[in-house]
Amino acid sequence: MAGLPRAALNYLERELELGLEAIPLRAPGMREQGRPGVDSSLVEPAIRQAADLDVLREVLGDCRRCKLCSDRSNIVFGVGNPDAGLMFVGEGPGEEEDKQGVPFVGRAGALLTDIITKGMGLRREDVYIANVVKCRPPGNRNPQPDEIVACEPFLARQIEIIEPKVLVSLGTFATQALLKNRIAISKQRGVWSDYNGVPLMPTFHPAYLLRNPSGKRIVWGDIKLVMQKMGISPLARR
Ligand code: SF4
Repeated sequence: MAGLPRAALNYLERELELGLEAIPLRAPGMREQGRPGVDSSLVEPAIRQAADLDVLREVLGDCRRCKLCSDRSNIVFGVGNPDAGLMFVGEGPGEEEDKQGVPFVGRAGALLTDIITKGMGLRREDVYIANVVKCRPPGNRNPQPDEIVACEPFLARQIEIIEPKVLVSLGTFATQALLKNRIAISKQRGVWSDYNGVPLMPTFHPAYLLRNPSGKRIVWGDIKLVMQKMGISPLARR
């Protein structure tokens, strides 16, 4: 089994212990087209069994499961209320997030904070914020498929543990990673989707809004749908 990815090795070792007789033919990390979530057969047992976010963070450890480990300063696990009703999912840490080890603390983060506080009338600590990949892609490049496959089980378990009432995916990569599709964010934002039973609202990434301020009105429309779904009164908006 030499040369197999670590996640696949862990899976095979566990399944052999349990009496595996046939190997599934799907490649590691691949799922049936259009099905959200992570292929649970390839998730390390320790991730599946992590009972809370602290344990999950311990399982993540000084992660070297993908090549993003080589350039990072800090792992950016996630921040916020572990019992949050609302969870935002972004793509990956940027420069400032990598320095501080906290998601969405740079300029795009300030905009997300405005959406949460000034827009929704919530506090940042009321929600939970995480990314698809927990380490900064060098030069803020897009995360690559093997990196998403390696890191995504941690996001999936974060969502299972937090059990949010509503998920908001920010931008193309978070949306495509969660919904397992290749549809442009412009075509799926503003429309409710489903992530393993959790209503998911895709919208533009705050970094996009920094470059295209006219998109703020569109995002506000998406966020109003989220508030409606969560029973948050627009009157609470500051
Ligand atoms: S991006 Fe995720 S899988 Fe890759 S090294 Fe960082 S924590 Fe590990």
